[in-house]
Amino acid sequence: MKGLRLLGRLVPLLRAVGLGGAADRLAARAVRASGAVDLSRYAASEALLLLPRCLQRSGCDADLLSNPENCKRCGQCSVGGILALRSGGLKVAVVGGGEAAVAAVSGSGARIVVAVACERELVEGALRCRGAAVLGIPNERPEGPCRNTTVDLARVAAAVSMLRES
Ligand code: SF4
Repeated sequence: MKGLRLLGRLVPLLRAVGLGGAADRLAARAVRASGAVDLSRYAASEALLLLPRCLQRSGCDADLLSNPENCKRCGQCSVGGILALRSGGLKVAVVGGGEAAVAAVSGSGARIVVAVACERELVEGALRCRGAAVLGIPNERPEGPCRNTTVDLARVAAAVSMLRES
């Protein structure tokens, strides 16, 4: 199956020629293709779980960008539940945009990134993160993009559980 980066390269080209709908469909297909990454090849300590700031409940004042540990696990958004999935030295970063995502990946030294975001961000991010494989998990956007998004916790848990402990 073609990977996220291979298919993802075509997405900006389709957008540039005005085929936004086709670009969105291809981005979704590219993200699905990333599910073929064999996570069992990687130890949890080699992985980075990358989360978008829009998962954080609007109005929550926990400074997750500085440190996800600032989450108080109040249960009002997905972040606390995701943090509870960590084991084996898995690193977690919460980022506010593409530049920060690229910096977080390169700063972590991760060989594998499990990234939650919208399909467009996942494709653009994967194209820019050259040093690591990327498995994308699309977020859910009940209030539209970039605000109070959620994610299927079972999908994140399934991905994390496939990483080796050491
Ligand atoms: S679980 Fe609660 S404290 Fe943590 S980020 Fe979400 S709203 Fe904030």
